Amino acid sequence: MTVRKLGGATIEKVEEICGAGFKPARMFPKFNQEAFDAQKSWMVPDHVEPGSDRLVGSVHTWIVKTPRHTILIDTCLGNHKQRTNPGWRNLDTPFLNRLKACGCPAESVDFVMCTHLHVDHVGWNTQLVDGRWVPTFPNARYLFGKREYAHWESERGRQGDGKVNDGSFDDSVLPIVEAGKAVMIDSDHQPDPLLTIKDYPGHTPGSIAINLKDGGRQACFSGDIMHHPIQVYHPDWSSQFCTDQEMSARSRRQLLEDCVESSALLCPAHFPGANAGTIKRQGEAFRIDWDDAK
Ligand SMILES: [Zn+2]
Repeated sequence: MTVRKLGGATIEKVEEICGAGFKPARMFPKFNQEAFDAQKSWMVPDHVEPGSDRLVGSVHTWIVKTPRHTILIDTCLGNHKQRTNPGWRNLDTPFLNRLKACGCPAESVDFVMCTHLHVDHVGWNTQLVDGRWVPTFPNARYLFGKREYAHWESERGRQGDGKVNDGSFDDSVLPIVEAGKAVMIDSDHQPDPLLTIKDYPGHTPGSIAINLKDGGRQACFSGDIMHHPIQVYHPDWSSQFCTDQEMSARSRRQLLEDCVESSALLCPAHFPGANAGTIKRQGEAFRIDWDDAK
């Protein structure tokens, strides 16, 4: 496990699962084979499965430690949760032990931040104890975007109990609210002097990125504004999971522009391999220079 340092803060990735998923033509409605093939040489095998072309994705959390706080950004899928996707159903991973091995036992977490409320970003918010879903991180405040929460709460009214985001709103978000541990935030909220939040709506209505800044350097935790590094080269390729395809593409381009301007280390939620990199302009789009630390 590699600890990246940024000023007085540290960044560490903890993986829950990693593997090949969708074929790119299914993932991206605007997929173009020729454009994909032009990048394939560096994408195989870390980012694209050899032979099948299926996209490789990781589900991981980011531990950010500042001089004042321990923060978890996105909480993966969680254990014992009943999901439609067989690869995500009833998991039993040693994720909490992996956190502990990084010097991050559950009790040490001060803030849990979710970039958005999809099923693979909220799972470890709760764990099953005596048949009930209870907060996993007993001393943490869980920060949910106000707009994001309001959207899924209203979807629950429309879709019914236990349906929203494959059940995760009911077993991984509502129990946090009911336990009084949730704080609904706007993008001007600053949980730590080194952290700021910016809105990038489109993947979901309230998707945010979290910026860490210290010592003249910056990192950007961008959730699912991009799922796969091919989207750095083709920012117009929104995923089939984006609520608003056009808005998501605009936000993605804005995020990439912002990363170029700030020279931020981009830390998305699902990039496997080196997991993070810096963004440079390239023609009408961008490229990623991977950060060597894995
Ligand atoms: Zn995701």
